[in-house]
Amino acid sequence: MSKLSVRDLSLSGKRVLLRVDFNVPTEVREGVTHITDDTRIQESLPTLQHLRAAGAKVIVMAHFGRPKGEVNPKYTLHPVAQHLSHLLGAAVGFSPESTGAVPAKMISEMHNGDVLLLENMRFHAGEEGNDAAFAKELAALGDVYVNDAFGAAHRAHASTAGIAAFVPQAAMGLLMEKELQYLHGELREPARPFVVILGGSKVSDKIGVIKALMEKANTFLIGGAMAYTFFRALGIPTGKSRVEADKVDLAKEILALAEAKGVRFLLPVDNLETQEISATAQPRPTGLVSPEKGISEDWEAVDIGPETIARYRAEIAGAKTVLWNGPVGIFELEPFANGTKAIAAALADSDAVTIIGGGDSVTAVKQFGYGDKVSFCSTGGGASLELLEGKVLPGVAALSEKI
Ligand code: ADP
Ligand code: MG
Repeated sequence: MSKLSVRDLSLSGKRVLLRVDFNVPTEVREGVTHITDDTRIQESLPTLQHLRAAGAKVIVMAHFGRPKGEVNPKYTLHPVAQHLSHLLGAAVGFSPESTGAVPAKMISEMHNGDVLLLENMRFHAGEEGNDAAFAKELAALGDVYVNDAFGAAHRAHASTAGIAAFVPQAAMGLLMEKELQYLHGELREPARPFVVILGGSKVSDKIGVIKALMEKANTFLIGGAMAYTFFRALGIPTGKSRVEADKVDLAKEILALAEAKGVRFLLPVDNLETQEISATAQPRPTGLVSPEKGISEDWEAVDIGPETIARYRAEIAGAKTVLWNGPVGIFELEPFANGTKAIAAALADSDAVTIIGGGDSVTAVKQFGYGDKVSFCSTGGGASLELLEGKVLPGVAALSEKI
């Protein structure tokens, strides 16, 4: 990895422009905005603490919601400044404007170690438009730039990418560095066997990842709704399961590609099927599937079955590197959560490098209590997928090279 890290910078007395991902879920109760999950803020604390301890003046930039380039009080970051202050145990200033005289004056009054949050970057059309003039105005407020917003690194916006051209040094923060280490570094030459577990709702979301990882993986374990598009490709009855009819040919192509490359591509051998999608449903096992007998007519497959769980567990136990993207069933509903729970437990038990990418998979792993028993949970949904697809993230490309 050749990008400059925040650990390489001399920081004492420097005005550091820090881009973070504070796009947290909120809920308004009795007119007061409450943050319902502060994971993203928590994840930025190591970099914030590092900067403060090194004596930097930390100017934090973030976006929140989709105000579409206009000032909209509904999307103010002010409540986030208060929450951050609570987490840091230190005052956090808030500038109601993101550029110009207001923040400039506040910054001129900062002491080393102080933190100031600027108002929502997306109140300016120049943010998402990656407008050079806006990027330059932001850059004028600081001495160096640090990007820790991995979750926004797949977007070329003014505060995630454009700004880097107008500062002498642009470095990755500690979270960004960790994301790149696991989703890129560890997978460049993975310890083998390298097992990739893919699930989720749509095969179309994951085609890029399947193709890119086909060059690297020894074994794919497929689950989730995407499995049933592959069933259709193999002529296995799918009942009322979710199938992407326009992706069946692509599924055939992928199966042929795996065969040609000698990559093992495992599909569920059995499933749970239901006639009702609800928290009180009682799904039944399908038994082993074949072109003669698959998912029952009028029934929908909602999870992998017990025999598949056993086989996938064995594959995971023998792996040295495991990457997981996409739940293998409708884990949000207890009766359909078994498979996803079992996969999470298998990863937690394994001595392999275990990496979880994908918003819902990370939610599942944490919900089942295994969050700290795996090597790494990515904070980026879209960004992690694009990185796994082998794409260059604009927010990373813009950073300075380490020399
Ligand atoms: P991630 O966010 O981890 O990348 P996805 O967004 O691709 O995962 O998919 C997650 C969704 O897939 C979950 O909401 C889950 O309910 C759904 N899903 C998993 N298996 C099935 C299935 N058999 N049928 C319908 N939906 C499914
Ligand atoms: Mg998702």
